[in-house]
Amino acid sequence: MAKPATELLGPAGLVALKNLREEGFHATGFDRNEYVGGLWQYSAKEQTSVMETTRVNISKERGCFTDFPFPEDVSSHPAAAQVQQYLIDYTSHFKLGPYMRLSTSIEQITFNEGRQQWVLNIQGGDEEYYDKVVVAIGGMIGKANLPVVEGIERFAGSSVHSQGFKRPKDYENKRVMVVGFSNSAADTATQLVGMANKVYMAHRHGARIVCSIVRPEIASILILTLNL
Ligand SMILES: Cc1cc2nc3c(=O)[nH]c(=O)nc-3n(C[C@H](O)[C@H](O)[C@H](O)COP(=O)(O)OP(=O)(O)OC[C@H]3O[C@@H](n4cnc5c(N)ncnc54)[C@H](O)[C@@H]3O)c2cc1C
Repeated sequence: MAKPATELLGPAGLVALKNLREEGFHATGFDRNEYVGGLWQYSAKEQTSVMETTRVNISKERGCFTDFPFPEDVSSHPAAAQVQQYLIDYTSHFKLGPYMRLSTSIEQITFNEGRQQWVLNIQGGDEEYYDKVVVAIGGMIGKANLPVVEGIERFAGSSVHSQGFKRPKDYENKRVMVVGFSNSAADTATQLVGMANKVYMAHRHGARIVCSIVRPEIASILILTLNL
């Protein structure tokens, strides 16, 4: 007998919802956003999201659901907005809409021993009971982890975690240091080009930038940077 289940609706939650329903579970997907797609939807709010210029760092041939390829006219490394559209199309194709509850934040999940069921505390006060719970949160959507930089309090300018970097225009004509050299740093620096006066990148290990497409006829298999 199928049992209710629940999860959250980024890419991982969407595929979990689809697979659970295919297996006959009465699954429901929850997300606190008013849209599906998780962080692939650019958001100007104070929450983790892609930047407007983000491109996916694995190819669409490798980074797609096995039963739902990207459209042919999308380039091998789609822009974030194309990934988001892909996730919306996935939702429609597998008719997941009726099983989703968007704009619904889960506050707490506990196990009720008496009922042998999971209790979901939903923001606003409601409690709901489920037999199984799948939590599908990538782990990058929490509070930003800002490292302690000795002496930063003496720095007269402003400093911000990349999670809070939303408006490149705020950096117009400024000298900006981007700390780090992985994907978010690359996205941040790219957005600052033509806006900031100077952009510097600080990285502790060094990095080698390699092309994401080795041979045009072979889908990309490489990540963008390699630590030295
Ligand atoms: C800026 C950035 C760029 C990235 N680029 C790439 C890339 O190019 N290639 C790649 O493979 N990966 C990339 N990643 C990694 C990324 O984490 C994954 O690609 C993917 O989005 C993770 O999917 P997910 O479903 O696990 O999580 P998410 O997409 O984070 O979705 C989690 C969902 O859970 C919801 N949620 C969280 N808490 C609650 C709650 N309490 N109640 C209700 N809903 C809740 C959120 O609203 C969100 O919609 C990137 C990550 C970041 C931050």
